[in-house]
Amino acid sequence: MRKILILTTGGTIASVQSPDGLVPGITSDQLRAYLPQIGPEIAIEICSVFHIDSTDMTADHWVAIAEAVQRSYDEYDGFVITHGTDTMAYSAAILSYMIQNADKPIVLTGAQRPIGFEITDAKSNLQDSILYAADPRSRGVQIVFAGKVIAGTRARKVRSMSYAAFASINLPEIAEINNGRIIRYLTDEDFCNPDPARRQDQAQEPDRSANPPDSGVRFSTRLNPNVFLLKLTPGMDPRLLPEIFRLYDAVVIESFGAGGIPQSLEQTLSEELNKYSPEEKVLAMTTQVTYEGSHLETYEVGRRIADRFQLLEARDMTLETAVAKLMWILADAEQTWEQIRSRFYTPIAKDTLL
Ligand code: ASP
Repeated sequence: MRKILILTTGGTIASVQSPDGLVPGITSDQLRAYLPQIGPEIAIEICSVFHIDSTDMTADHWVAIAEAVQRSYDEYDGFVITHGTDTMAYSAAILSYMIQNADKPIVLTGAQRPIGFEITDAKSNLQDSILYAADPRSRGVQIVFAGKVIAGTRARKVRSMSYAAFASINLPEIAEINNGRIIRYLTDEDFCNPDPARRQDQAQEPDRSANPPDSGVRFSTRLNPNVFLLKLTPGMDPRLLPEIFRLYDAVVIESFGAGGIPQSLEQTLSEELNKYSPEEKVLAMTTQVTYEGSHLETYEVGRRIADRFQLLEARDMTLETAVAKLMWILADAEQTWEQIRSRFYTPIAKDTLL
């Protein structure tokens, strides 16, 4: 008998139609009535963590989810977290850092249409998630949605209405679930740690002590939410930069293409960075392009800033993951720039292969 705990957090899957639009209205008790037919070999319990549209998700909610898993970790064989789809990629990324080296599956799922609707993807997503969470070969934080299993650090919501809402970015899907059968494409052995020599210019030896193999699950339930994501637009006014640097501990710049900073922003950026040490205000570069990551070394506009500033580059990490990783890293005070840099480039939960 496999024991699965479903933790509900709201989202469309648990929504009902109101005169003002869909609102999370189905309680965890009511959700039980909609559970798919599952054989007697799986025992399910349901517990509500909170009940929100995931647009309202904050770092406090992520802490509440991680603590709920931590409290019950020894009692269950797997966890299914029902969640709104809009911020699920962020939640999956952050939970991948808050719950590391898990030997049990922590599956996030949701739906594009409420479970109470006649035509809905909620029941199949829930059924697939329960099956996947009950399979003894599953482990770690993943999203199960529309028949795909995606690493928690690699998901992006790519469709706002249709069922296939999520894509796996810069990493193949881990598995597919088809008519109740799990077809696995990747296992833990498929991921080897990258050769540190290939990233010599960016990091020293990655800090493998932060993630020793087989040392059991580790929970960290502190986050620093002061990470800003700045999406560049052509001709952006540089006058907003000082305020952003004043308010936030890290700024992730979502640049164009392979990556770079427009000349019109560079002077103000330099003035801001000169006011602080690199560990006080962390600068990270990522790209607006969905696939294939940033490559700052390609163009002069990228190389120039990589040479001039002490910065981090997300490369093949998704921007959701870059933001989440910094929230997790910067929860610890008193770190040197070298420590921050080493932790950022240390692969965790398949977040980077470069
Ligand atoms: N607004 C909803 C949410 O993220 C959308 C969904 O669940 O699909 O909570």
